[in-house]
Amino acid sequence: MSAPTSGQPQVWFLTGSQGLYGPEVLAQVEADSRAIARQLDQARLPVQVVWRETLTDKAAIRRTMLEADADDAVVGVIAWMHTFSPAKMWIAGLDTLDKPLLHLHTQAEAQLPWATIDMDFMNLHQSAHGDREFAALATRLGLSRATVMGHVGQLEVVAQIDCWARAAIGWQDTRRLNLVRFGDNMRDVAVTEGDKVEAEHVFGVTVNSQAVHDLALAVAQVGESEAEDLTVQYQDLYQVAPELGAGGERHAALVYAARQEIALRHFLEDCQAKAFTTNFEDLGALEQLPGLAVQRLTADGYGFGAEGDWKTAVLVRAAKVMGDGLKGGASLMEDYTYNLVPGRERVLGAHMLEVCPSLTASRPRLEIHPLSIGNRHDPVRLVFEADPGPGLVVSLTDLGERFRLTANTVQLVAADGPMPRLPVGRAVWRPDPDLATSAACWLEAGGAHHTVMTTAATAEHFAGFAAMAGVEWVLIDAATTRRGFAQELRWNAAYYRLKRGL
Ligand code: MN
Repeated sequence: MSAPTSGQPQVWFLTGSQGLYGPEVLAQVEADSRAIARQLDQARLPVQVVWRETLTDKAAIRRTMLEADADDAVVGVIAWMHTFSPAKMWIAGLDTLDKPLLHLHTQAEAQLPWATIDMDFMNLHQSAHGDREFAALATRLGLSRATVMGHVGQLEVVAQIDCWARAAIGWQDTRRLNLVRFGDNMRDVAVTEGDKVEAEHVFGVTVNSQAVHDLALAVAQVGESEAEDLTVQYQDLYQVAPELGAGGERHAALVYAARQEIALRHFLEDCQAKAFTTNFEDLGALEQLPGLAVQRLTADGYGFGAEGDWKTAVLVRAAKVMGDGLKGGASLMEDYTYNLVPGRERVLGAHMLEVCPSLTASRPRLEIHPLSIGNRHDPVRLVFEADPGPGLVVSLTDLGERFRLTANTVQLVAADGPMPRLPVGRAVWRPDPDLATSAACWLEAGGAHHTVMTTAATAEHFAGFAAMAGVEWVLIDAATTRRGFAQELRWNAAYYRLKRGL
């Protein structure tokens, strides 16, 4: 196992036992648990797996949990009872633990030595009942945790741990996230509003406004040559429309878009912010609604929501972090219009400008077109179609008394034909289980028209994230029925009201 590297997320591998067995058995426990931690650490998880001393008493357990909570590098802990570890020892520690917990129900040996097995072997390899003791206590404490069962040599077991680790990294990022809003909410819009104090309490995210005036000043101060240099990079990355290229009659608009990108990037860095929103109703002296700048910043991992929609910006950022390194991407998406032809039901999603090009592996076109909304100069934007394949849309709604995450698994598909007069980033999809069921359930759940669309992070990642946040999670997928979903919403309403207490 490599030594912990600062800055790299870690999960601690905790092994429970007790002093009763004597030093010889505890030495074997240590050797076995080190081997399992090493195997996980080498399994290409997105975290470093750090083995910690075997835990055999209450004080050590509590101290270890306090250290895990205090260490910013630690995104979660994995617990495994190699032998029997009387669980009352774990109460104080688990009561303090504030980081996500994964209970790994495993065993050092996959194969029982039938011909030679004796009580010594049985006493050493007794997670079958040691883990039940631990889990019974965790359940009694009402502890939210992930439970994974199986030998770590199984790919499926490692995949479940990988999924949990990604959710934990996303959750850790959200808890520290700074989000900048340029301007407020689009006037009169309901679903993009929300309780920012409650959001900081529940998710940890800090949502603050910044003056668009200051951003406009920063844009004006970007040097011409710096902006020109950036447009040269655009030429390498995108199919740039000739009118925008150097010497083209609209090149100045591209230079302006580059200035916006440079200024916005520095502004967010100064605020230590990894997510932001804009509002086309409040652009101050900005000459264009930021399109290309938003697309490029989100491609680099920033969260974004339009019209002041900070809740979706949080989700875009979480999807970026959880899906980091996986194939696919994540973007603000908006359910825009439908194809309702029977048998060809589709959603066509897009936004004014700001869909993230991480949804395609193809080379986007860089174009300029008029925009009737925003009352500014024609904005520069990347134009592309999201790649076909499985995806997920997730929205975050403030129900007044709590937050709800509503999600839908979808199949991105090719459009039925070219759309030459639609010069925006867009996606076409078939929602599970079918458009009628999906849309009806979505509407009844109060899901928003803004979502994060992700083709990298999955429903399993977001479900883990929701569990860590303690936030309601409803998923519309291939197995969803309208009747079952309506019941789930009713039962959830009762559960979450009871859970809040007085
Ligand atoms: Mn919108």
